[in-house]
Amino acid sequence: MKIKKGDTVLIISGKDRGKKGKILKAFPKKRKVLIEGVNIKKKHQKPKKTGEKGQIIEKPAPIDVSNIKLICSKCNKAVRIGYKIAGKKKYRICKKCNKQI
Ligand SMILES: [Zn+2]
Repeated sequence: MKIKKGDTVLIISGKDRGKKGKILKAFPKKRKVLIEGVNIKKKHQKPKKTGEKGQIIEKPAPIDVSNIKLICSKCNKAVRIGYKIAGKKKYRICKKCNKQI
């Protein structure tokens, strides 16, 4: 997967379209990512003890990688990613500014 943890991405579809966020976790097998503040689901938590109030917990849910675009840390634009191979190493490069990201 081209996107990894710590990347900043732009949401390009769905209800959070236009939002930006940081990848908290990547699930390469499912091709999904968890993004800070995006796709928030509310979960009701029942009180654990009598007399205690129930809580609503807001947690981000994973979204599909096809709904996001990486924001290049060099040119600050939502870009496509390419790869460059140098020796045994593989680098991600921004297709817009051609810099390593
Ligand atoms: Zn760039």
